[in-house]
Amino acid sequence: MKQIERQCCVCDADMSLYLGDIYRCDVCGYMSSFYSPGPGAEVEGVDAVREKNFRQICHILLEKFPKCKTILDVGASRGTFVRIAVDYGFLVTALEPDLALVDAMKQKGFEVIDGFFPGAIELTDKKFDVIIFNDSFEHIPNLLLVIDGVKKHLTPDGVAVVNLPSSDGFLFRCSLILAKVGMMAPWYRLWQKDMASPHLHYLNPRNLKRLFELHNFKQEYSRSLSYYVLSGLWKRISCASSLLVAIPSWIILVTLYPLFCLKSDAVASFFSCNKN
Ligand SMILES: [Zn+2]
Repeated sequence: MKQIERQCCVCDADMSLYLGDIYRCDVCGYMSSFYSPGPGAEVEGVDAVREKNFRQICHILLEKFPKCKTILDVGASRGTFVRIAVDYGFLVTALEPDLALVDAMKQKGFEVIDGFFPGAIELTDKKFDVIIFNDSFEHIPNLLLVIDGVKKHLTPDGVAVVNLPSSDGFLFRCSLILAKVGMMAPWYRLWQKDMASPHLHYLNPRNLKRLFELHNFKQEYSRSLSYYVLSGLWKRISCASSLLVAIPSWIILVTLYPLFCLKSDAVASFFSCNKN
């Protein structure tokens, strides 16, 4: 019999223990690890894919939301998005809780606020045309507080951008199948279990949209992004996996690269807040 003891943060239905120590909502498919959150060292080898995706996001902002000038980058990490968005002409403020990363960004001359979203004291009374979460949304424990914070800090014509890994992706589904037959390593690697900053949530484009719509937002646009590129792939896999897992994983990801691109594990969705 399934054990039920958690509530879904999207639709409030009961969640059941699903696979390993991961919980799943039986109604909307939202998944949660309930691991302990933490800032800190991130995955290696993701520079090339981030560069590509962040440029695409800036293009979309310029094309579809031309009034937007100011951006808050939540969980700015090493400042890759900040650098690219500044190049595109945006006025960008980084928000980052890891003090070493904050100092490194300040040394590059970036505008940085130290802290978490939405509780950072320096954020009080500030508003932005864009609030973006690049691989940070899924690391924040209370998504309802995050959405309240977005409402508070977004300008009336602003847009929230959520760029995150999707449970609809081919890689996620393959890991799920392997976990069901007892090979848990790829599954836990996707959840970043035992890493400094594990994934607390896995959403897909449908329950992400539902989460925002239930809180008076409207989805303006959504598209898949690249989840990985071949450049930096070995570093990314091997930084947190044993060779026994890393070598076959690398061979599979290189060989089946075109297939994984067809159903990417990364999605970016753009939401405006209804004014009434
Ligand atoms: Zn649900």
